[in-house]
Formats: sequence, C-alpha cells, structure tokens
Amino acid sequence: MSCLMVERCGAVTFKRSEQNAIHVRMLADGRLNTGHAGVLLAERRGSYPLIDLHILKTSAQQGEVESGNRRKVKRLLSFQRYCHASRLLRGLVPHTPGSLHLLDDDYLGQAGHMLSKVGTWNFDIFLFDRLTNGNSLVTLMCHLFNVYGLIHHFQLDMVKLHRFLGMVQEDYHSQNPYHNAVHAADVTQAMYCYLKEPKLAEQLSPLDVFLGLMAAAAHDVDHPGVNQPFLIKTRHHLASLYQNTSVLESHHWRSTVGMLRESGLLSHLPADMWQDMEQQLGSLILATDISRQNEFLLTFREHLDNQDLDLQLASHRHFMLQIALKCADVCNPCRVWELSRQWSERVCEEFYRQGDLERKFDLEISPLCNQQADSVPAIQIGFISYIVQPLFEEWYRFTEPSLLSQTMTGHLHKNKARWSRLRYTHTHLDTQTHPHIDEPEPEGGGGEGESIP
Ligand SMILES: [Zn+2]
Repeated sequence: MSCLMVERCGAVTFKRSEQNAIHVRMLADGRLNTGHAGVLLAERRGSYPLIDLHILKTSAQQGEVESGNRRKVKRLLSFQRYCHASRLLRGLVPHTPGSLHLLDDDYLGQAGHMLSKVGTWNFDIFLFDRLTNGNSLVTLMCHLFNVYGLIHHFQLDMVKLHRFLGMVQEDYHSQNPYHNAVHAADVTQAMYCYLKEPKLAEQLSPLDVFLGLMAAAAHDVDHPGVNQPFLIKTRHHLASLYQNTSVLESHHWRSTVGMLRESGLLSHLPADMWQDMEQQLGSLILATDISRQNEFLLTFREHLDNQDLDLQLASHRHFMLQIALKCADVCNPCRVWELSRQWSERVCEEFYRQGDLERKFDLEISPLCNQQADSVPAIQIGFISYIVQPLFEEWYRFTEPSLLSQTMTGHLHKNKARWSRLRYTHTHLDTQTHPHIDEPEPEGGGGEGESIP
C-alpha cells in the first residue's frame, strides 16, 4: 500500500491521492483502463504497471496465477514451519561453516548435498528452488552468510536477517517468468562463484563480500516484469519519481534500503557505517542498468590494458564488485545448455508478455517483444553478441584466465553456435510457428550429465 511504500522506500513520496489522480488522468486518455490495476495496487505497494493487469489473467494463465498464489501461501507456511523447527530459534546456532539450519528434514539430504556444491558452475538453481519449496534465495543467502562468517563478523541478529531475506524474496514477483526470486538466487550463486575467483578472493574484505551478496540477492527486487521504456510510455509513477533514469534499478535499490530499515538488520551499527553500506549497495545495483554497459566496459578494458587495477584500494575492489555483479546478472548464456536454455525461454516469455500488453493497449511494441517477429534464437544471439560476449571477454582477461572463465567461455561459444543453428533451422524450415527450442541435432557436449551437480 502507498503508505507502506512511503515508509519502506524512504525516497518514495507517492500517495494514494496521487495514485487516484493518475488513474483518472489515464482513464481520460481513453486508452488505458486502470480499474484492475487499482485493485492490485491497493493490494501491494510497488512496481505493478499502471494498466489493466487483468490481461495477465487470461484463461491460459489463470491456473498459473492461482497456483502462484497457492505456492506463495505454501511458501509462507513452510517458512514459518522451518523457522519454528529451526535450531536457530531454539538458540542452537550452528557454528560449522556451511552447516544447514533452515531446511525441512524431508529436503535436508538433497538440498544439503546441493549446498555442498554451491560453488560449482553447473549448480541447478531450478532444482534447488524445488527442493527448498520456493525458498532458494533465503536458503542460499543464509548458507553463504554462514560460509563467510558474516553473521558473526557484523553481529547480525538472526531473526532480523531472516525477516529481511524473507521480505526480499517475497517482494520478487513469482508470476514473472524471468525476473523472479529464482533469478535473484541464480545471480547470487554466480556472484559467489566470482567472489571465489583467486584474483578477487584474497583481496576482498568481509564488507565487500557482504555487499556483493546482498546486492546480488536484491538487485531486481519488486521488478514489474516490464522494462523502463514501458514504464515511461505508460507514465508509471516510478518513471516520474526517478526522472526516467535507471528507473527500475533505482527502485530495486530504494526498496532494498526500505526493507533494511524496516527489518532493522543494520540498526545496531554506527550510522555512518550503515549509511555507507546503503550507498554502496545503491552503486552496485545501479551498475546493473544495461544502458550503462559501455561506460563500465570501457573503464574495465582501460584498467586491464593499463594493468593498473589495485585491489588493495577499496574503490578498485568496489569497481570489481560492480563488474562481477554485472557478469552474474547476464551470465545465463555462460551456463550449461540445459540451464541456459530455460533462462532464455523465460526471459523471452517475459518480453512477449510485455509485447502482448503493448499490442492490447495500442502502444508501440518494444524491440524484442514481438513474438511474431523476434524469435528466441535471434534474441539470444543478439544478447550474446552485444552484451554478454564483450563483457566476459574482459572478465576472462581479468581472471588470467581462471578455470571457471574457461568453462564459461566454452559454454558461451557452444550455446551461441547452438542458437545460430536453431535460428537457421527455424528460418528455413518452420517460419510459421514459435521456435521450438529442442534442437534436432544435439551437438556433442551440450551439457549432458552436467545439469545435476
Ligand atoms: Zn537481474
């Protein structure tokens, strides 16, 4: 609700009366019906698009929305159950690094086995999310905080930590095909792999690690499932609040700050310390704005050319955390094919849903959002060529290259080649239907035997 949003987001000053005014104005346009959106906005503060979201509940998706709600209830119940059962609430905080304390016994074995390999690149986050009953983000973060001893180092209150992580996880929209809590968990797992890179690991302070993991976990929180141009052209309140610049990223950051303050997670720390942490989190999350890609890439390249990165300097470590988070955010094409393919389908599904909304409301269809014109293979090849490859080429140089960099680069090239063959196949054999992702001719490798750690 808007009053909650004011409280939690700090900078947000959007009031219910303003919300109503926007509804009236947009209805007067005669193009956008905000009736249902009004209901949804009343149900939760945040980023839902100010248009008729009833379209998202078409008959085809009704079951999905309902099962989404069921999952949410189940997840909440499960969360309460394991909190009660947890040794933490009985005062028995495990001290063994990597020990488990959050999972239901039924899942302990399998999920625990997975957590023991959380630093491997073929970690299957989809499976992990199922084993943790939709709590992959909370479970992963608690585990990693234990691994690094961050709870002890920052004297964190376990109940506050759980409250904060629970809020972050719940504020991701589970109905988004891509920008949901599983993506956040995936980025966090990738970030962990990058923080372990020998070039970085020895230099990072506990604060660096804390900020890196927190930024990864929260970097897309409350993502509405549509992009910035969509928010601007539908005159969403977030677009005007953040003056059409890094709208989503600013919202992710301010929402995180709101939840940090609401949970009181850092309230025991000196004011200058938690204020600095909030600012650094902002700088990390804002770096994920893809429109700033060139700015970061050029600086990164320059540092590598001049060999002047000095990781003794806090500012250089912060820059490398920004780069690591950017890499983690777009690393899907560097995963083994079976995982990579699922992410590709999900992100394109989210684009197409935006395109459907735009078509329905007579708005210009955004690039990549037209299911009839933009195939999954074509979108992926463009994404890999213009965003992922240039960034990971520099990361490869930075790590000199590490074993992980070589593995990622291998997957990236194989996946790109695979999408190219799929595009060729569908352009020449089947231009009528939506691209069918299963490749007719599985190429040697392709991730067999690698998808389950
Ligand atoms: Zn993201």
